[in-house]
Formats: sequence, structure tokens, C-alpha cells
Amino acid sequence: MDDMGAEEQDGRSSGAGPDGTVRRAFLSLGANLGDRAASLRAAREALAALPATRVLAASPVYETAPQGLEDQAWFLNQVVCVETGLEPLELLRRCQAIEQRAGRVREARFGPRTLDVDILMVEGVESDDPRLTLPHPRLWRRAFVVVPLADLWTLARGLTTVDVRALAAELRREQAVEPYRDG
Ligand code: ADP
Ligand code: MG
Repeated sequence: MDDMGAEEQDGRSSGAGPDGTVRRAFLSLGANLGDRAASLRAAREALAALPATRVLAASPVYETAPQGLEDQAWFLNQVVCVETGLEPLELLRRCQAIEQRAGRVREARFGPRTLDVDILMVEGVESDDPRLTLPHPRLWRRAFVVVPLADLWTLARGLTTVDVRALAAELRREQAVEPYRDG
């Protein structure tokens, strides 16, 4: 299915999508049920296996206090930077399929979702479509997203005018985000 041509071998793009455009995108991974680290790992592997997609970098993993609905387990969160030829809506569809596959608690028949994959930003794309709003509407309020995004600052720099590192330091004072030692 995937076209593994010469481009792949010299470490460049793994191929463009139908409109020929390859874009950088930042994705947020989160898990708070089951084997959380395994869910994130499975998500990263599934993203790397998408057609016309390459994982450029993954932030460290953080353990974070739940926001909003606070009576639930702490999350593991991570931000991943990919380069993809998939159209944004197609990328979303693929991310939702990854959530469904990798996010299932092993023994539960209809267990709660264990993985959330959100699209934070896609290079050159702004959208207020409720199916896919870009940048993600709650991105700049969430320490669990901004802190790992700040770790990928050199890759994020061209995509936003926001001072991600300053914002990360500010949000971190209000929302618990701790480095997670991956087992
Ligand atoms: P949440 O991530 O807010 O906890 P869901 O993962 O269930 O909730 O997503 C709810 C809906 O948000 C999805 O049906 C999706 O179409 C929509 N959505 C809008 N913008 C985005 C985005 N940038 N990334 C991911 N989903 C998005
Ligand atoms: Mg989501």
C-alpha cells in the first residue's frame, strides 16, 4: 500500500497525498485508563505506520492532573510532530481509528476509551469546522498540551506566533504536569 520509494531511503518525506502537499502537524496523545504508557506507544507506532506520514519527533511523556472532570485518574500526555501528505480531515479520521484500535482496554468488552488523539495544529491550515477546528480550540489553555509542545519548540516555531515556552511556564503554575519516567 505504502509507496516506499527512494525518498524514504534518503530519510526525506515518505510521500505526498492526493493534492501533493506535505504538511507538518502536531498531535496530542492522552491516556488515563489501562496501561497508559502502552497506549501512547501503540499510538506512536500507529501514526508512524500511516500512509504518506513520518513521525519527526515525540516529546517526553508527562503525568498530568485531569482538567474539567476532576474525579478521574491522572493522565499520561505527549505531543508528537509528524509530516504528512494526508489531508487534515483524512488525518483526523485516521487518528480516530487509532483511538478506537489502540485505546481499548484489553479485557473490557465496551470499556471506556483509553486513548485520545487530538490534532493541535497543521502547517498552513486554519479551520473553524466543528469536525476539525485548527488550531485546536483549547490548545493554549491546557498545560498538558502546551508543556510537551514547548519541548518540540524548534519544530513548532514556524507554525505559531505564540511564545509556547513562556505560556508553558505560566500554565504550569496552575496545572500539575510532572515528568513521567517511562517504564
Ligand atoms: P475531546 O478530545 O474534546 O475530549 P473527542 O476526542 O471525543 O473529545 O472529540 C470530539 C470531536 O471533536 C470529534 O468528533 C472531532 O470531530 C472534533 N474535533 C474538532 N476539532 C478537532 C481537533 N483539532 N482534533 C481532534 N478532534 C477535533
Ligand atoms: Mg479528542
